[in-house]
Amino acid sequence: MTERKSRLQQELRIIPLGWTVAAAIGIVVVEAVWEFVVPHLGHNDLPPAPWYNLLGALGALFLAATILLTGYIYADAKRRGMNAVLWTVLVLLIPKPIGFIAYFLLRTPMLAPCPKCGAPVGADFTFCPKCGCALMPSCAGCGRAIRRDYVCCPYCGKPVGAAVSPSRPPDPPTA
Ligand SMILES: [Zn+2]
Ligand SMILES: [Zn+2]
Repeated sequence: MTERKSRLQQELRIIPLGWTVAAAIGIVVVEAVWEFVVPHLGHNDLPPAPWYNLLGALGALFLAATILLTGYIYADAKRRGMNAVLWTVLVLLIPKPIGFIAYFLLRTPMLAPCPKCGAPVGADFTFCPKCGCALMPSCAGCGRAIRRDYVCCPYCGKPVGAAVSPSRPPDPPTA
């Protein structure tokens, strides 16, 4: 439970400061409008005081949560190598829960640093696009990428042993 909680805190920490500030400003603005502007508009059908205040607080919290979640999606899309601006605009334009749910269903796996040069590489990359480092060993029989803990190749059935070495991409032609 505590582990889950600290992971959540870690995740929330990626929200850029600007979004957190915007969420705080959003709460203040909604509360101010709700307390000082709306009662003076002359509506007679406003709910009685405790409900009215609760409604305002819920509205402010909802707005803040929306801003923070959008900020999270912006930062998360960026670190996954996705189009952060496009996704931010999409989740803002698509009716609320659907845009957020779509993002979490469609987001690409987290990028990990290349062990050699540290460039962000996708989970399914065989070679680092920056330095050409082999990220996955390949089968000596069929050449397809396999995982280090495989005993035999899942594609051609060849036993995987000492014979398998991380293959190198062809050297780029020297100009
Ligand atoms: Zn690299
Ligand atoms: Zn194979």
